[in-house]
Amino acid sequence: MVPRGQRDPEGLLFEISRPGRCGFASPPVDVPVDKQDALDPRYTRTEIAGFPELSEVDVVRHYTRLSCLNYAIDLGLYPLGSCTMKYNPKVNERVARLPGFAEAHPQLSQEASQGCLRLMHDLEAALCAICGMDRFTLQPAAGAQGELAGILMARAYHHDRGNPRQVVLIPDSAHGTNPASAHLAGYRVEQVASDARGCIDLSALRRRMGEDVALLMLTNPNTLGVFESAIEEIARVVHASGALLYMDGANLNAFVGWARPGDMGVDLHHLNLHKTFSTPHGGGGPGAGPVGIRKHLEAYLPVPTVEKEGDRYVLKHERPRSIGKVRSFYGNFGMLVRAWAYILALGPAGLRRMSETAVLNANYLRRRLEGVYHLPYREASLHEVVFSDRHLEATGVRTLDIAKRLMDYGFHPMTIYFPLIVRGAMMIEPTESESREELDAFVAAMLRIDAEARRDPELVRTAPHTTPVRRLDEVGAARHPILRWVPGKVARD
Ligand SMILES: *Cc1c(COP(=O)(O)O)cnc(C)c1O
Repeated sequence: MVPRGQRDPEGLLFEISRPGRCGFASPPVDVPVDKQDALDPRYTRTEIAGFPELSEVDVVRHYTRLSCLNYAIDLGLYPLGSCTMKYNPKVNERVARLPGFAEAHPQLSQEASQGCLRLMHDLEAALCAICGMDRFTLQPAAGAQGELAGILMARAYHHDRGNPRQVVLIPDSAHGTNPASAHLAGYRVEQVASDARGCIDLSALRRRMGEDVALLMLTNPNTLGVFESAIEEIARVVHASGALLYMDGANLNAFVGWARPGDMGVDLHHLNLHKTFSTPHGGGGPGAGPVGIRKHLEAYLPVPTVEKEGDRYVLKHERPRSIGKVRSFYGNFGMLVRAWAYILALGPAGLRRMSETAVLNANYLRRRLEGVYHLPYREASLHEVVFSDRHLEATGVRTLDIAKRLMDYGFHPMTIYFPLIVRGAMMIEPTESESREELDAFVAAMLRIDAEARRDPELVRTAPHTTPVRRLDEVGAARHPILRWVPGKVARD
């Protein structure tokens, strides 16, 4: 099926509006109306200026056509590195829609919400077992908010020891949310260089550690997909000067069931349930970024926590040194339900298998593409692999062009220009969801694009050619943004 948008640009509702058309009309009132109850006519209106007028079928088709312009994990491979765009099993949705979960009001009494509380309690226990941590807070709504909550707990910990300290150390390969969260929590951010293998430079770290450092934030495996194999030594160096080791757990998909942050000397870390444990993400949808901590940080957990007393589950607010609430109610509860459904469905052996397959898939792509695409770091990688555009320097074709051309072949582009330590980075994470056939189709597209870049660079440099929207003028959009829709003044092309 060719979505309409590929023949003709889909107009805005305002543009396809026709005077007098109507989607739904309620019948005239056939019971007496109590004038006293009616709103004062001064506050009501019969017409809304510029309001689109459309039939029901106009509206349904408009949104259905728009939905066909979208790319989704349910359509094909979504190889965004770092994002772990895995398939979200539909049973998760079934479970999240059970009325007892979907219709639970967050202000229900604890008596009436035992099932929901039990789910949160059991999910926390499972995350503790998977990660080797003592407690988890499920409140943060995303990884980034988990980082902030974690750093605030670390800050409270140092404060109670007489000095909150001033600096958070972050490797130069880190995700941008790490320095942003540290800054928001009142810390000065200092970068630590990576070594030739792409891992944190241990001697640079040793030199820099001191009484002013509150925290090292380390992503493991790091954003090159490389496991920080010196993690235990790193933890010793950090702890020797009284600092804490924070692990960015966004890449946990690489070793669930194989290794545990708690065993590596990590004091606290966030998880992204919407990455590692399915649940949908992308498009700004709700996420969940639980934070796991070791015992020495327990006093600072956000409140309320879910506790089990006898056979009852209760919400506890008494925690005098808590950093307080970080999210309304209990976080994005629907995401907790989906993640718990996923964990239960896979079980311990299934989770292990998941990580194993994610690593296998990434290394399959690596082996099929290395030798053609430039591999800047040759260290063994786990669940994702980073290439660069250096091999195409002479052709003038850049990473952005390759990403755009992939769309012509029906694939979502990979993550590009991240991590920042790789010039022209292409970061590919297939996840465990993909079949051999889908991976082979992706490889075939990548190899064809490479051949095109050498034979006909202009073709790649002007891609995409088959999508509803062609190459965008990104500089123009940044320099001259049109932020307001003015009737009759829609700029096209
Ligand atoms: C995704 C990601 C984050 C941020 O997580 P959100 O859930 O998107 O807020 C942090 N660090 C790394 C390495 C990530 O991949």
